[in-house]
Amino acid sequence: MTTGDPTTTQTETNPLRVRRGVPETFYDLTLDELTGRIDELGHPAYRAKQLYHWAYHQLASTYDDMTVLPKNLRGELANHLPLTHLQPVTEQESDDGETLKLLFQTHDGNHIETVLMFYPDRVTVCVSCQIGCAVGCSFCATGMMGLTRNLSAGEMVGQVVAAARRARDFDRQLTNIVMMGMGEPFQNYESTMKMARIINDPEGMKFGARRITVSTSGLVPFIDRLAEDPIQVKLAISLHAPNNHLRDTLVPLNRRWKVEELVDACRRYVDRTGRRISFEYCLIKGVNDSDETARELARLLKGLLCHVNVIPLNPTPAEPSYERPSEARIQRFAQVVNDSGIPTSVRYSRGVDIAAACGQLRVEHESASAN
Ligand code: SF4
Repeated sequence: MTTGDPTTTQTETNPLRVRRGVPETFYDLTLDELTGRIDELGHPAYRAKQLYHWAYHQLASTYDDMTVLPKNLRGELANHLPLTHLQPVTEQESDDGETLKLLFQTHDGNHIETVLMFYPDRVTVCVSCQIGCAVGCSFCATGMMGLTRNLSAGEMVGQVVAAARRARDFDRQLTNIVMMGMGEPFQNYESTMKMARIINDPEGMKFGARRITVSTSGLVPFIDRLAEDPIQVKLAISLHAPNNHLRDTLVPLNRRWKVEELVDACRRYVDRTGRRISFEYCLIKGVNDSDETARELARLLKGLLCHVNVIPLNPTPAEPSYERPSEARIQRFAQVVNDSGIPTSVRYSRGVDIAAACGQLRVEHESASAN
């Protein structure tokens, strides 16, 4: 049997549907889609809402935990629609216990990373949207890998749910999601936004869209598209340099969309949405950390509703010559941008001791497996 959706296949011998090469799971479905699936199985529509509640509110990890549902429905779903295919592989905790890095294996044997960060006032999960990344930023371990494939919405939702469960183990509640793990979210726009819609659903996790931040290295057409999207997630731009000469070397995508085009798109986005943009700025010793570069950055962003996050480099194997600036230089850079009228803070990437720079845990795990 083949379904009407040309991107989805299902055979008589295999009841699992496959979408763009990834077997479909419960976490891939919006509530409307799930209601349709429940109807196909001959069960009343209200069961879909019960399932959403148990999966996303109670954070049940198996259908058997959803004891309010009839046993035959639980059995049918386990056969036709697994909750997830993600398998936990390993977990690392930072020395201070405030960062957990989770590594999962996908159905096709790849590995993806999710980082859970505990702060006094919030709990943030950093989610991956691709296996590897095609953008190839020169300071990034993930960029070294190239792109294997996009993750499905369900594979992203699965990371969020797993992180919410781990937060609950510590009597904490997940409060923020940042799409800043492996991959470029705007090269996987549909699935990323579907993930946001699923976890935003009031029958499920009810996760506020404004607490989800999508980060891009600068795919200009998708900034305009996001401005029109009904789901109002926050936007972060991985800028890292205020001019084309420097940004071409750090973020190769800049050769396609120049700094001026990128900032123009940001101005259109703010005009259209009224939402503030965060600019991420990875600070690298002797590369983009001078006072003059700080002033140039402030001039570039002048008049834009925005905030700059200066992130001192986490050295990675991607470019051994790149180093973290001294603490004095980090503070000075942030001060110059701030004094020039752009609100700026320094954000230290979490879990340096557990390889929390994006892509590093996967790199370490795969090297260890190969030895
Ligand atoms: S920094 Fe982000 S966009 Fe750049 S290569 Fe790494 S994962 Fe891709």
